[in-house]
Amino acid sequence: MPINLQAHAFAGNPLRSKTPKPGDPSSPNSALETLKTLILEENNHSGSSQKNFKFLPFRKGRPLACSSGVSCEDSSKPVWQLGWINLADCKAILEKSGTILNEDSFVYLGSELADDDGGDVVYWAIDVSGEDGSVPELIKKQFCFVELRTLMVATDWADVRVMGQLAIAGNARALLEWHNVSRFCGHCGERTIPIDAGRRKQCSNQQCKKRIYPRVDPVVIMLVIDRENDRALLSRQSRYVPRMWSCLAGFIEPGESLEEAVRRETWEETGIEVGEVIYHSSQPWPVGPSSMPCQLMVGFFAYAKSLEINVDKEELEDAQWHSREDVKNALTFAEYEKAQRTAAAKVDQMCKGVEKGLNFSSDFNVESGELAPMFIPGPFAIAHHLISSWVNQTAF
Ligand SMILES: [Zn+2]
Repeated sequence: MPINLQAHAFAGNPLRSKTPKPGDPSSPNSALETLKTLILEENNHSGSSQKNFKFLPFRKGRPLACSSGVSCEDSSKPVWQLGWINLADCKAILEKSGTILNEDSFVYLGSELADDDGGDVVYWAIDVSGEDGSVPELIKKQFCFVELRTLMVATDWADVRVMGQLAIAGNARALLEWHNVSRFCGHCGERTIPIDAGRRKQCSNQQCKKRIYPRVDPVVIMLVIDRENDRALLSRQSRYVPRMWSCLAGFIEPGESLEEAVRRETWEETGIEVGEVIYHSSQPWPVGPSSMPCQLMVGFFAYAKSLEINVDKEELEDAQWHSREDVKNALTFAEYEKAQRTAAAKVDQMCKGVEKGLNFSSDFNVESGELAPMFIPGPFAIAHHLISSWVNQTAF
């Protein structure tokens, strides 16, 4: 069951492919100047909401979403969408807590040519975590804040448009979380201020003026394969849902190459020595802990020089060699499409106010491979593609 993707989940952001050059009206700094004027008008109640500016609010890391769309092939299949709103609606949300619209709250996400050829649309993100109350205007539109992980599971990976929306939401969440964890200068301790339309920050101390760039935390993730290329090493962490097995992974230490990190992590966690290391692909992962706004998963095949497993119980619950046939069965049994449709239906119900606060991770667990003795993470994770590439001996 190979699943062919154009890009991993969270990669392939349609807004990030080419940032407009300085001077272009949709470039970060020109768009910010226009936004300042619009905010001034909005705050003076002369409101002329700019149709070419769209805003995506986040509350505690959750993007605003709705589920009004349906898939082209099957109208009974709900499809989630991001809850893009206009400036007047942003103001309505902020006013709940007496906050006034301020251009420093907005982070530039990029621009795209409008569908109706009405010029470029510029997209922005805003964190409204301080405003806890529900907003009647948004409930009426059937918008609600949904965990990004839930949207990830609910995304039909064959739908390029929704995959693009997921990538935009991932980039926006990473930038907003980075703003939250970089409020103060690490050099002198003064407050930092956003510059370049929120895509960079700078220390406000005029003697310091240190620039701070969005943070990315690289992680190596590897499928360890035996010398005969017959068996793969899969592991379990205690935080995994029952019966799920996946690749080994670990953070890169300063002063270490990617290949060295693959070898060290495999040795530390399983006692297996790795020789050749071959790059596969990489995936942005903006759904990790909020202290790490965006991890970059860098995927490898790692060929083992030894077979004996010595599991570090601090790091892993278990690690075992699995035959290609067993891994193939795990991929076949897992009902990824069913899990995706169930999650999409739940997002639909949440947005319509039917279900609130559901635990999607346990739902996903039940849905995934009910009959299988083990299962592999879904197609939203690079681990799935490393494993299925090996099983099917394909490049992606
Ligand atoms: Zn400073």
